[in-house]
Amino acid sequence: MKQVRRRTMILLCIAAFLAVGLLWFCVRWATQGRDWVNYFGNTSLFGNGAIYDRNGVLLYDGKTGEYAEQKSVRKATMHLVGDSNIATSMRNVLSDRLSGYHPITGTAFGSHDIYLTIDASLNDVAYQALNGKKGVVAVYNYKTGEILCLVSAPSYDPENPPTDVSGSQYEGVYLNRFFSSLFPPGSIFKVITTAATLEKKADWQSFRFDCDGKFEVGGQVITCPRAHGSNLTLQQAFARSCNGAFGQLALELGGDVLRTYAQSGGILNSYDISGVTTAAGQFDVGAAGTIDLAWSGSGQYHDMINPASFLMLMGGIANGGKAQVPVLLKKESFSDSSIPSSLKERSEGNAIWSRSTCDALKQMMRNNVQETYGQKNFGDLTICAKSGTAEVGNGQAPHAWFSGFLDEADHPLAFIVLVENGGSGANVAGAVASKVLQKAAR
Ligand SMILES: [Zn+2]
Repeated sequence: MKQVRRRTMILLCIAAFLAVGLLWFCVRWATQGRDWVNYFGNTSLFGNGAIYDRNGVLLYDGKTGEYAEQKSVRKATMHLVGDSNIATSMRNVLSDRLSGYHPITGTAFGSHDIYLTIDASLNDVAYQALNGKKGVVAVYNYKTGEILCLVSAPSYDPENPPTDVSGSQYEGVYLNRFFSSLFPPGSIFKVITTAATLEKKADWQSFRFDCDGKFEVGGQVITCPRAHGSNLTLQQAFARSCNGAFGQLALELGGDVLRTYAQSGGILNSYDISGVTTAAGQFDVGAAGTIDLAWSGSGQYHDMINPASFLMLMGGIANGGKAQVPVLLKKESFSDSSIPSSLKERSEGNAIWSRSTCDALKQMMRNNVQETYGQKNFGDLTICAKSGTAEVGNGQAPHAWFSGFLDEADHPLAFIVLVENGGSGANVAGAVASKVLQKAAR
């Protein structure tokens, strides 16, 4: 009897061990199964899906591990398609879609193919237009949110990754600057100061400013590259990007109002772009009446922006006050049939400023091109824009910005171009924007 009891106890112990082990396995399966399947070292076993551009150009073949056929396309789409180093790439973010992984069925139903919204040939043009400089080029449809072009530079050929990435030419190469980086905006920030002026200064139509190249605040001086002339209206000060006039406006509006408009313009928020979280911008103002506050109205104090959220702001102005969140996933195919994608769901767009404010900004940004940047530099595009030349200190050339949109019903495209240490915003970044938009819209 004693022996039977002992054996029963041993059997019960073994059964308990088995039960605990099974439970442990199930918990690990549920919590880590996705990671096992999507581990980059296992992609040859599971991650068989392919990534295409909007026109069906192959960008990555999960079965062979090969990237696009053309080397320049591989470089121009590397940050979006990705290798194991790019955390925000679609290979990482959509890995369980590429492998077809599901917690219950595993990978039994096979992999999915992903079609991105981008046009790979447009990315190619944009990357080459940057001409070896670091920076960002992005174009999106402000009605649908579809991103047509998204380039972050520097890049590399994912089929032959560089061995010397610690060199300065590869600084920040593993970041997609569009999603993850913050930059001083310089004068493209004047769009926000102008919106605040239109809505908060009832007498803005009678605003006038005399610019002799210097504007004194509390014994310190805000400079302009040249004397912009006397009796400038708001529209003229905006077109000539007069730092003195915008210093005056910042002092009159005050730091709280500027901050409110940076907030309502959406540039201090973080967004989810097809599963990628963007960096939120920053805006600090100096004390009332100081030169720091005056400079912040021109984007030159501690202001920092993320290119994705600024692109959305441009889209919002073009779209009469509704800013669409950009999307990257056009469709997903599964067993040769397209299925609707939850990531493709579109919102109504985020409300920014009133339609009348956006329409007034649109007209002023169109005037910038006609009065300052030169329509001849943009062919027959109906382009509305603001340039920026953001000082970065340390004796380095300033960052060149050019941002805006096309006011064309058939081509509802907003864009942002940053050329790091590129020099003049309108000349350098404007030329990149012109090349890419002429290809996108014609
Ligand atoms: Zn000036």
